[in-house]
Amino acid sequence: MSSLAAARADNFYYAPDFDPDKHGTLNKYNGQHALRDRAKNIDKGILVIRFEVPFHIWCTKCGEKIAQGERFNADKRGIGHYHSTRIWQFSMRHHCGCIITIQSDPKHCDYIVVEGAKKKVEGVQSAAEAGVIELTDDAEKERLLKDPIYRHS
Ligand SMILES: [Zn+2]
Repeated sequence: MSSLAAARADNFYYAPDFDPDKHGTLNKYNGQHALRDRAKNIDKGILVIRFEVPFHIWCTKCGEKIAQGERFNADKRGIGHYHSTRIWQFSMRHHCGCIITIQSDPKHCDYIVVEGAKKKVEGVQSAAEAGVIELTDDAEKERLLKDPIYRHS
């Protein structure tokens, strides 16, 4: 082993494509490596990010509630545009194995659950529980609006 090789063995490993002119310091280069790991599918337009769930959702596979603000490692990819605004899709794996996909909705400045979860538990969020009067019949609705006595009886 030459002295040069020995010196190298004691030092940081310089990747074969390390180029000080291009990459700057080794730390900076390694920083790029960290991003590279998150960007390992960047050729498919996918970047791994920390995604914060924008509202309460319920996993469709295990039924568990995922609270607003809970964070997941998510694959982020652009799936189109709304005017000049990019539409992003985020796919994350729930611990039960279910893949939950949420995408941005620039038109409504909101997010849409595409698959793997629901915004509300079905059957639980009834109108009565939400504290509003459910008007199922149009005739009754009409009567309620026109007849104050009927409304208060
Ligand atoms: Zn689940």
